[in-house]
Amino acid sequence: MQMRIIRKCIDYLANGSHILPMAQVETLETKLTRRAALAGALAALLLPSGRARAADAAPLRVVATTGMIADAARQVGGAEVEVTALMGPGVDPHSYRQTRSDIVAMTRADLVLWHGLYLEAQMEEFFRDLGRKRNVVAVAEALPRAVLRGHDDYADKFDPHVWMNPVLWKGVVREVQRALTETRPEAAEVFAANAAAHLAALDRLADYAAASLARVPESARVLVTAHDAFGYFGAQYGFEVLGIQGISTESEAGLNRISALVDLLVTRQIAAVFVESSVSDRNIRALIEGAAARGHQVRIGGELYSDAMGPDGSYEGTYLGMIDHNVTVIAGALGADVPERGMDGKLSAGI
Ligand SMILES: [Zn+2]
Repeated sequence: MQMRIIRKCIDYLANGSHILPMAQVETLETKLTRRAALAGALAALLLPSGRARAADAAPLRVVATTGMIADAARQVGGAEVEVTALMGPGVDPHSYRQTRSDIVAMTRADLVLWHGLYLEAQMEEFFRDLGRKRNVVAVAEALPRAVLRGHDDYADKFDPHVWMNPVLWKGVVREVQRALTETRPEAAEVFAANAAAHLAALDRLADYAAASLARVPESARVLVTAHDAFGYFGAQYGFEVLGIQGISTESEAGLNRISALVDLLVTRQIAAVFVESSVSDRNIRALIEGAAARGHQVRIGGELYSDAMGPDGSYEGTYLGMIDHNVTVIAGALGADVPERGMDGKLSAGI
């Protein structure tokens, strides 16, 4: 176990960045655009008179597991949907189990959206079973295998944290569009227009992220967090990413892992580490104390939204705000000159 953890650490350091090649991103985009377009065309064929009846119908009841998926459903669904998120701010999806009221909401829903890729590890069987009877879609599992990252925790599974890269998240948004269109074909045009607007906003976000993170000095492009949620982020923007815990918060961090990371903080003179809103900061504090005992001051660069978004009703409680916050906090703490209130001046003050 110890060897494996150190090995993993070394692999990360040796590999450095794994930026998704543009050609691969473009292929992904073309594939997903085609799928969404096909769903729209099928929907048009199914219309009895070619006229949208959506305005007369009650909103679709959509249940989503994470806040990020609920946000995608609201963005694409607009007035056609009423979305319930099972997991609120600060909730850890790796350990979440469905409650009795969740089950009631899901059995009454017109569409249930979950992430898949083993993110909702405790609910995996429940969703596979529900999917045999109800309209259930694992939205991240629509992404092509070629763009997914593997990991050591489970040899046959992928890193589920795809929302950390807005370019990949566009694929999830298109899958949400496809699922909504299949559920309510008569609103296909509304979904297509909403999706196009949201995808354009995600493009702007991706540009802001790339430009801001490129301003971090190269030697400072190391992201130390409580658990390994930032692999896709690091791969896209050229950061080494080191989580104290593994891909899932379910795995315990050993003392060896903490001491290996303290070594790294001291030898590389890393100035800041980050806490996460959905994970205890106990291990991060152990790192800071370990480094201090060896005469190296490390500070907390800020709180990142890793597996859950910010407070409901706030800008950080949307996908755009969540990523804007993370990018702005990371870039700022690691030495880049970035706007204090983020991409559009909407971030809360004092982050
Ligand atoms: Zn996670």
